[in-house]
Amino acid sequence: MLGECICQTDYDAAEFFRDRMVRGRKAYTCCECRRVVPKGVRHEYAEGVFEDEWFHYRTCELCVSIRNSLFRCGYGFGSLWGDIRDHLGGTDDDSWLDPPTHPIRGPNA
Ligand SMILES: [Zn+2]
Ligand SMILES: [Zn+2]
Repeated sequence: MLGECICQTDYDAAEFFRDRMVRGRKAYTCCECRRVVPKGVRHEYAEGVFEDEWFHYRTCELCVSIRNSLFRCGYGFGSLWGDIRDHLGGTDDDSWLDPPTHPIRGPNA
């Protein structure tokens, strides 16, 4: 498994893309783990144009850090945990491959 790449590279790149870390002015849902990112909590905001359509995604800090360490060559939004399971799963107990479910704490928690 070590050295084996789990990245997604089999896709056309977006015509335009940028991402940055932001703090939400309201609550958002992480596009990967589907947890709520409370208002004011740092997360990644990504936006771009793909096939003439604007897209944008919010990703929580935990999913961003996992994405950055595992998907160095490319990734698709919303498929992080599925890709991890596809790649690392297949054992008797795959529950450790489930997305996190503990709530993301708000800025004042
Ligand atoms: Zn997440
Ligand atoms: Zn890779």
